[in-house]
Amino acid sequence: MSNCLFCDIVSGKIPSPHCLDTEDAVVIRDIAPAAPKHFLVLSRRHVDSLNDADSGVVAGLFEAATRWARAEGFDREGYRAVINVLELGGQTVPHLHLHLLAGRAMNWPPG
Ligand code: AMP
Ligand code: ZN
Repeated sequence: MSNCLFCDIVSGKIPSPHCLDTEDAVVIRDIAPAAPKHFLVLSRRHVDSLNDADSGVVAGLFEAATRWARAEGFDREGYRAVINVLELGGQTVPHLHLHLLAGRAMNWPPG
């Protein structure tokens, strides 16, 4: 085991079904869904937060996110793609990931 939960999920050391594997990212279901459809797009490479991500890593996350949205069919009805950054941003797992939320109307401004 590494000391990073999401690295262990990416590598398969912690069993968690991968919905999609790309060169740059792994899509999984969030364990505590905040919407009828709630996926996490994990950076394949460990990066603590968006602050430390280069443009290739960020592009890879969004490429996987839009691919999975199309595959699941919620690209047409709409969804939210969000990255929480550090404490005030609500980031609880220090490994770069993007939330994909769908299946209900999203509120704005977010809480
Ligand atoms: P954040 O608060 O932006 O860092 O998001 C972390 C997310 O990871 C939360 O929505 C958690 O519900 C989710 N989470 C934590 N542990 C797991 C796990 N083992 N498998 C899937 N999702 C997880
Ligand atoms: Zn990690």
